[in-house]
Amino acid sequence: MGILEGKNILVAGVTMNTSIGYRVAEIAQAEGANVVVSNFGRAMSLTARVLKKLDPVPPLLELDVTDETHLARLPEMLGEHFDHLDGVVHSIAFANPETALGGKFLTTPFADVSTAVQVSAYSMVSLAMACKPMLAANASIVGLTFDARISWPTYDWMGVSKAALESATRYLARYLGPDGVRCNLVAAGPVDTIAKKAIPGADSFNTIWQDRAPLGWDSQDSTPTAKAVVALLSDWFPATTGEMVHVDGGLHSTGA
Ligand code: NAP
Repeated sequence: MGILEGKNILVAGVTMNTSIGYRVAEIAQAEGANVVVSNFGRAMSLTARVLKKLDPVPPLLELDVTDETHLARLPEMLGEHFDHLDGVVHSIAFANPETALGGKFLTTPFADVSTAVQVSAYSMVSLAMACKPMLAANASIVGLTFDARISWPTYDWMGVSKAALESATRYLARYLGPDGVRCNLVAAGPVDTIAKKAIPGADSFNTIWQDRAPLGWDSQDSTPTAKAVVALLSDWFPATTGEMVHVDGGLHSTGA
């Protein structure tokens, strides 16, 4: 029996089979979960195509986390597939690569900062609240970050947005804990996805990880990250909330 046997899970943020969310959906299914996936806009057709490789093919919902109408109708859309939700995966981020990433930190217009924070951090709360009517008493919400306790080359306002996500997750844990709902993050090392490729200069992360990660790191392999997400969705972390689990080959523990 898998560690997610019979659990109903929403994975929000799958575009390609390289998406971390895709690997989460695949492993969650292998562990017995019933999975629904969401994405938004024009990329929905790409998502629909890659989901065909999963067995069973998960239903695909449209959810733009900046669209209040999408958030408001989410319980109804989920209700077509599930009578409750045991887990939610937030695998969503966006910052304008022209202005908010790649070394333009000092001159980024606030409108682009605002978008980055809304999509990448505030949405953890808006997604959780949209799902709340469906959440089971012991539900688990898991998001993905790139350790934002420190600064990185080129990551700029996405780093600030991730710091906000990390703090917002601790507050979610505080406010949803009394309902039995856990909220945690996985702090992944660099994974070669579309989101990462959109960051100018992000290849430098791979070099940093090759040089410093004690366990080594394969940026083409999202499996270690996805497995940690699935573990946090399961009943095997029943007393863990507000936590950030590093899945980075141990890099965070090194000084140089
Ligand atoms: P990805 O495949 O590009 O996934 C990001 C997803 O966010 C995409 O499906 C994207 O949709 C979606 N998204 C963007 N704006 C949205 C909106 N307004 N509403 C709903 N969905 C939206 O890249 P990924 O690397 O797997 O990213 C997943 C998560 O892991 C992100 O939080 C990312 O920051 C985090 N993470 C990634 C790495 C890494 O090195 N790749 C490391 C640590 C953490 P579209 O494609 O349609 O824009």
